Amino acid sequence: MTHRVYNFGAGPCTLPLSALQEAQEEFLNFAGSGMSILELSHRTATYEAVYNLAQDNIRKLLNVPDNYKILFMQGGATLQFSMLSMNYLQGGTADYVVAGTWGKKAIAEAKREGEPRVVFNGADENFKSMPEQDEIEFNPDAAYFHHTSNETIQGVERRTPYDTGSVPQICDMSSDFMAYPVDVSQYAMIYAGAQKNAAPAGLTIAIISDEQLAKGPDNMHAYLDYNIHASKASAYNTPPVFPIYMLSKVTSWMLNDVGDLQAMYERNNAKADMLYNVIDNSGGFYKGHAAEKNRSIMNVTWTLDTPELEQKFLSEATAADLIALKGHRSVGGLRASIYNAMTPEGCKSLSEFMREFQRVNG
Ligand SMILES: *Cc1c(COP(=O)(O)O)cnc(C)c1O
Repeated sequence: MTHRVYNFGAGPCTLPLSALQEAQEEFLNFAGSGMSILELSHRTATYEAVYNLAQDNIRKLLNVPDNYKILFMQGGATLQFSMLSMNYLQGGTADYVVAGTWGKKAIAEAKREGEPRVVFNGADENFKSMPEQDEIEFNPDAAYFHHTSNETIQGVERRTPYDTGSVPQICDMSSDFMAYPVDVSQYAMIYAGAQKNAAPAGLTIAIISDEQLAKGPDNMHAYLDYNIHASKASAYNTPPVFPIYMLSKVTSWMLNDVGDLQAMYERNNAKADMLYNVIDNSGGFYKGHAAEKNRSIMNVTWTLDTPELEQKFLSEATAADLIALKGHRSVGGLRASIYNAMTPEGCKSLSEFMREFQRVNG
């Protein structure tokens, strides 16, 4: 087989091998169409079957209630920062949790559309934690409450929704989407760029309640109007057919090989534990960034004593086929992104490398 490395990159990230192999096998002639999925029109029954499979799989995995739509769009989670505030803020006020880089970017776009309020700012403690329910003063007049369940760059996560009362809860789940069971009914809207956990880049998934959809204005630009995507089965314009196809493969892998999101969570948690155990038992050689209660099971972040030692770690890890472990340029240090498709073997291999690196350099 082709030589493959363990890719700990933050996104695009590693995909399940079986999904890649299936795509390879049917690449030149998809489903008897005599053409590649890359060439297939989105106005065909063949595409419709792909779309339906991806929709059904997500609905099953996340137990999405009937009164929610699942939308496939483009522009990444970044466009959602703008789009959700254009649709739902409309000059009003909204509550934002800023617990890391992505929350900060989300509120920056909302400021163009109204007067969002920061209800938690983690900047003072260098973004190490997520706020607890009682640390937030909720504003009952907010058009919505927005948070980021997993701050990808800092490696801090909160997997439980907040109790927002009657205020609609909107969550950027880009980097922990479908990584654990979620009670969708607690949210008015969940959105995620697909390239962390679900598919290659080029696709954004949003799950929105009918009640929230009904709040959209009627004068929105067509592509930026959630109701248009909802009423046209996400094919108002040409959808990203290939990422949607890969989404159908990845979610089928989750259902058939992993089982359900509880099993996915247990697998992810065990993977993360392998790395946090090494950090915790290193006597301070490895220093974890996140507060223990908010440690991410998707992005494990840590530092070493000096930049020179971190550089040595990175080059030796790369030589051992453990690649893309460099922390984000804004925070430095090291980061292992271990999304759904990262195998337990990959995490075991990294944890063994870390122990050996400490033995030699500690
Ligand atoms: C990666 C990421 C984004 C940005 O996603 P794009 O698809 O690149 O726009 C936003 N939020 C979070 C939490 C992310 O991890």
